[in-house]
Amino acid sequence: QTPARYHLSDREMMRTIYRPRDPFAHKGTYGHALLIAGSYGKMGAAVLSARACLRAGVGLLTCHVPQCGTQIMQISEPAAMCITDEDAHYSTHFHKGISSAGYKAIGIGPGIDKQPGTAKSLEMLMDAWQRPMVIDADALNLLSVYPYLLYKVPKGSLLTPHPKEFERLFGKTANDIARLELLSKKAVELQLYILLKGRYTAIACPDGAVYFNHTGNPGMATGGSGDVLTGILTGLLAQEYTPKAAMLLGVWLHGYAGDLAAAQLSQEAMTASDIISSLGNAFREGI
Ligand code: AMP
Ligand code: MG
Repeated sequence: QTPARYHLSDREMMRTIYRPRDPFAHKGTYGHALLIAGSYGKMGAAVLSARACLRAGVGLLTCHVPQCGTQIMQISEPAAMCITDEDAHYSTHFHKGISSAGYKAIGIGPGIDKQPGTAKSLEMLMDAWQRPMVIDADALNLLSVYPYLLYKVPKGSLLTPHPKEFERLFGKTANDIARLELLSKKAVELQLYILLKGRYTAIACPDGAVYFNHTGNPGMATGGSGDVLTGILTGLLAQEYTPKAAMLLGVWLHGYAGDLAAAQLSQEAMTASDIISSLGNAFREGI
């Protein structure tokens, strides 16, 4: 008998995944994350991602940003360190020194834009890093523009496309069922965790299993929601949650925080920042 392929995430599952903090912990215990995010006019995506990463419990966070972004990041989020790129408006040199820097996790994509130099740096980053990383937003779009890069993504990485990004990556499908089949097929073929974001985010694993997440609400259909998720996932990976655990727990908490924000503020008035503000209560009440 083959095991069921489709599963539903629930609170019980989160209780088995979640690890409470060790009383003797220090910031080194929870890993150093690198977030590569932001460009001229899109530094907000980087700030949202960074704040979410910190609220997900990461030990230390460094953000790689273009020159125009350093002051913005340093003033917006004092807990984040910055590495400033050689470029003024886009990050194109983030691969440098990556293997010796001691990072536990890397997240890339929110607001990075699609410059050729960024694609080149992404290629060199993936060649050098060779461990699971979180790939979102314009980093996914770069994989669609340069399809050979998709085959360089380290095994076990987390890809977080929304439906449009999914279509750019893997093509159109006739209906939702066909899209789900394609999602699972690609996760197995590429040995990646691919989550297709939406009302019920579908999380496809390299072994063919697919998990559906039911937390979240249409109040999260607002700019920056996805950037918050990228930060959370990167923060959990840095804490040495396995890619699968980070994925299931991260998506659950993100949606739960969105539900708490909506309960407090309404689905209309809540913004991506409110999802971050509610993450604390999601950890306390959602697990
Ligand atoms: P992005 O499109 O990259 O900003 O990501 C949007 C995020 O918000 C994803 O995590 C979605 O799952 C979530 N989201 C958007 N719309 C809804 C909805 N109607 N119900 C639940 N979650 C949603
Ligand atoms: Mg997005």
